[in-house]
Amino acid sequence: MSRPRLVLGALISIAVLALAGCGTGASQASWHEVGSGSGSGSTGQGGSDPVTRQVGDTTTSQAAAAMPAPSASASTSASASPSTSASASAPASAPPSDGIQRTTGTAAVALTFDDGPGPETPKLLAMLRQHGIKATFCLVGVEVQAYPQYVQEIVKDGHTLCNHTWKHDTGLGKKSADTIRADLQRTNDEIHKAVPNAPIKYFRHPGGNFTPAAVQIANELGMASLGWTVDPWDWNVKKWSGAKMTEHIVATVRNNTRPGSIVLSHDAGGDRTATMAAYKTLLPELKDKFTLVAMPV
Ligand SMILES: [Zn+2]
Repeated sequence: MSRPRLVLGALISIAVLALAGCGTGASQASWHEVGSGSGSGSTGQGGSDPVTRQVGDTTTSQAAAAMPAPSASASTSASASPSTSASASAPASAPPSDGIQRTTGTAAVALTFDDGPGPETPKLLAMLRQHGIKATFCLVGVEVQAYPQYVQEIVKDGHTLCNHTWKHDTGLGKKSADTIRADLQRTNDEIHKAVPNAPIKYFRHPGGNFTPAAVQIANELGMASLGWTVDPWDWNVKKWSGAKMTEHIVATVRNNTRPGSIVLSHDAGGDRTATMAAYKTLLPELKDKFTLVAMPV
């Protein structure tokens, strides 16, 4: 059984969390500057709240499992870590008790792109089109407002939509139920201004900071909570940039993606030229190895 592995994974994730913060939450300095008003995400995931901590750690352990050591060449050890093995072997298991979907549930792999739409989105769409690949886009309300035409292209190309909150507030899940509901509804309404009637069946909390309340409210609004298996940290532009970042993304995704993985990357929310360069290499490779799907709606 995998309980000891899970415990070990949780301990590792807490250590990682304490050292560096993890997931998209640590990346979003620009979003905080834009106006979420919450400062906790730039240094870690709300560590003082035991409820959030519990849920966040579960999510984080998945992300941490896929994170190689801070050198782009050292991914072998990460892919052999206990919690990676545990998550890699579990794509077809029962739904998670916390309601967060972290694998596709089949052998297919899902590429997910967060924080857009943004200036790089058309490039990504063109690459996906070229390879006939469908993906999932987790959209931020204010960016939908800024680039509605890209949302229309996303839907026209047959990709799946996911609600990533109005302005990427990494602390939203800890706010009142009314605040959470209003934020998610406003985001869906903005998306529907661009693409009336397009299904929005998924919700991803910024930074992966899902709380039970956020998961439940998303569910009431018809959205499943979408986690991830593989996180190449493409948001961490302070750690890597340029060709080094591109190498890091390629190596992490290449070495950690398994049947059933949900891969997290970012097409917006900062400089994403390295992500685009990485996917130019990764898309044909992944397409050869896996069936790539948009999350089903
Ligand atoms: Zn995000």
